[in-house]
Amino acid sequence: MIRTSKRLAAVPPSATVATTFKAQALQRAGKDVIGLAAGEPDFDTPGHIADAAKRAIDRGLTRYAAPAGLPELRDAIAGKLKRDNNLDYRSDQISVGCGAKQSLFNVMLATLDPGDEVIVPAPYWVSYVDIARIAGGTPVIVPCGRGSRYKLTPEALDAAITPSTKWLVLCSPSNPTGAIYSAVEQRRLAEVLARHPHVGIIYDHIYEHLVYGAEASQPINAVAPELHERTLIVNGLSKGYCMTGWRVGFVAGPTHVVSAVSNLQSQSTTSTSTISQWAAVEALNGSRGFMHNNNEIFKQRRDLVVDQINKSPGLSCDVPDGAFYVFASCAATIGKKTSTGQTIRSDGDFVDYLLDRGVAVVPGAAFGMSPFFRISYAASTEVLTQALARIHEACRDLLD
Ligand code: PMP
Ligand code: GLU
Repeated sequence: MIRTSKRLAAVPPSATVATTFKAQALQRAGKDVIGLAAGEPDFDTPGHIADAAKRAIDRGLTRYAAPAGLPELRDAIAGKLKRDNNLDYRSDQISVGCGAKQSLFNVMLATLDPGDEVIVPAPYWVSYVDIARIAGGTPVIVPCGRGSRYKLTPEALDAAITPSTKWLVLCSPSNPTGAIYSAVEQRRLAEVLARHPHVGIIYDHIYEHLVYGAEASQPINAVAPELHERTLIVNGLSKGYCMTGWRVGFVAGPTHVVSAVSNLQSQSTTSTSTISQWAAVEALNGSRGFMHNNNEIFKQRRDLVVDQINKSPGLSCDVPDGAFYVFASCAATIGKKTSTGQTIRSDGDFVDYLLDRGVAVVPGAAFGMSPFFRISYAASTEVLTQALARIHEACRDLLD
């Protein structure tokens, strides 16, 4: 029998991906399950973006692209970074990948050696920790509780840095909490980082456009320019442009790191789909009016979810500023019993119970913080209303 590699022995499947497709499989098998696990907009890709892909096919623009990406797309990304973030990047400082996930994977594989540490504030997006491990690095998880609105404080950052620290991963707006680092908060983190010049920053900005408050989300090097040379921005079109299945992400950062990322890409996928890349050029250069409409809808849904969760016995949550997730505490359900006599001992148990009651969500444990669970509100108001009613009833039916 062929054994799989030791490197992958401790790597679980992505919990977010697994839960999403488990819910879909249950639905296909005829079970009445509402999936609120998926981290993708329920809106279709805007028509003008899809049309650009169709035009690319009709014009025969269907051959391999350079590993770093089409020059036209890298120019469009450089334009976007200037326009949205006032950051100057040349196109040789940008590399396009098959989604931000692969871009991040490439960065870690291209930069980590055994013993290198990667600071990951928790709760975190599931894949940071596992990608760092696959790449041979050591994740250093720093719990960031509700008291700091799930954000890394300067003190906690300072305490986590060692001579082996290679990267600090920041995600803002955050998956799973929706928290956004303000300019002031980022400057305070930058003051700590100034004392540790060996630490690089991976800044995951994939939810950049999904912001519902007054302050826009900016990468740390936009507010602390002294960090520019050691910041690597990871971003992509999946979320804000409703393009999850197109698989377009990118990194922007120091030339030598970006060129290592492109070399690695040349040995794996060569490039992401050329057709998707032409669609991405249109997405970045064309009209973005749809974002405003989408965000209005997301904001209403967010308020609905927060309101209903806080009315459900045993659950509570804060109002997230961005992304399309609510990270809710289920602490007060722990120790209670279901009507079939099972005791809820963890957020995993609570999530299994909700699945029995017809709603799929992701346990906080997958994001490194318990007892919580994540709801994605990228679903219609009708679907959300029905799911929230099921959650409410499920909580109400728990026994002491
Ligand atoms: N970062 C975060 C925080 C995410 O939630 C996702 C969603 N999958 C990604 C990166 C990767 O997105 P994609 O590969 O679709 O660009
Ligand atoms: N990022 C999304 C999520 O957190 C999509 C799935 C994944 O890639 O993790 O659900």
